[in-house]
Amino acid sequence: MSGTGGADVSAKPGLSIFSKYEPLRERASVLNKLGIDPFNMTFDDIMGPTRGRIGNREIILAGTNNYLGLTYDAGARAAAKDAIDRHGTGTTGSRIANGSYVEHARLERDLAEHLRKPSCIVFTTGYVTNLAAMTGLAGPDDVIFIDADAHACIIDGTRLAGTTTVRFRHNDPKDLDKRLGRQKFADGGHALVVIEGLYSMFGDIAPIDEFAEVCERHGAYLYVDEAHSYGVFGEGGRGIAEDQGVLDKIDFYSGTFSKSLASVGGFCASNHPEFELLRKVMRPYMFTASAAPANICAAQAALEAIKSRPELRRNITDRAAQLHSGLADMEFDLCAPASPVIAVRRPNEAQAAMEWNWLLQEGVYVNLAVPPGTPQSSSLLRISVSAAHTEEDVRAILAKFRALKDNSAELMNEMMRRMQASE
Ligand code: PMP
Repeated sequence: MSGTGGADVSAKPGLSIFSKYEPLRERASVLNKLGIDPFNMTFDDIMGPTRGRIGNREIILAGTNNYLGLTYDAGARAAAKDAIDRHGTGTTGSRIANGSYVEHARLERDLAEHLRKPSCIVFTTGYVTNLAAMTGLAGPDDVIFIDADAHACIIDGTRLAGTTTVRFRHNDPKDLDKRLGRQKFADGGHALVVIEGLYSMFGDIAPIDEFAEVCERHGAYLYVDEAHSYGVFGEGGRGIAEDQGVLDKIDFYSGTFSKSLASVGGFCASNHPEFELLRKVMRPYMFTASAAPANICAAQAALEAIKSRPELRRNITDRAAQLHSGLADMEFDLCAPASPVIAVRRPNEAQAAMEWNWLLQEGVYVNLAVPPGTPQSSSLLRISVSAAHTEEDVRAILAKFRALKDNSAELMNEMMRRMQASE
């Protein structure tokens, strides 16, 4: 109703513009029946990289992607506060229209240097980074090859680029090889192969070295999104490409500030100095506001920590191994070997939701990951480990997963009861 006493102003003739979302309402109703709304959960407080509060319950955070735990790092916080005092709270425009801050340029220089690439461009988010770089790189005659499990922003990058797109089997360089060999290119057309380092849902790692070999043989350009692996893998924190000894083979290396870099923003570094030209053509760079000073300066401080504190990487690796082996001992179905992303496969969405909710009530926050955002339509309890987790934190998380197993029959009965009560 309009609330003005007149006709319903929201009513339009014919089917509502929202009618196409009926299937979504149907799906949501499984969660509605269970009385669980994981997509609108709110923390009353976040007290540190591994602790939050809902009501008067303290929650161990194990689903934040805060891999190095630097969002509360003293240096990052001081840098962000100082940036606000010096430059204010917002940039109010794009770098093309309104100019850059000296900190944007400094961060680009330092990231380029860290990744040993001649060029690096910073963007407003990681999502925008992939949209911008992919649309800038791939013209109408080019073909983009993406992994079957590509992240949404890579898929959206291909859509915005509007070029021919070929999907190859997940983490399968042989399949890519075959498809590159088969592809007919227009004169002057190139192949741009886009993969990720660590896949965010299952936590499995790409054989970047093998992909690099295939790309080299076909003269294809290799683009690697290391959103979940930059800062975490490699001796110097340069990601899986560094770990596998092929950093120099990556033509385009993208990442985000929203994980190890403890901020909001993104970057793409390149072997090709000509990448700089793209600043004048990438619409998601040109037509959106640039990253705020506080975000840039927090990321800069986190970058310094990545370079100077290798113990953060040792700690996250140890905690990931501890958690993974504890869950494996309990015979949970894990999607990949140990990494900072540990995904526990559940039989279906309803059970996963019940378990996710139970863990939260018990003081452990993990991610509920369900189709369509997951590979193989899996329903997952996805855990992300942080360097800020202590051994004791991991023991506490494992104890709750043990209790979840012990309470499983009761929880399934409760699930059936809720489903039936709502029918
Ligand atoms: N790439 C990958 C692989 C991601 O998982 C994400 C988001 N989690 C992004 C890019 C986008 O990053 P951002 O959240 O900074 O937009």
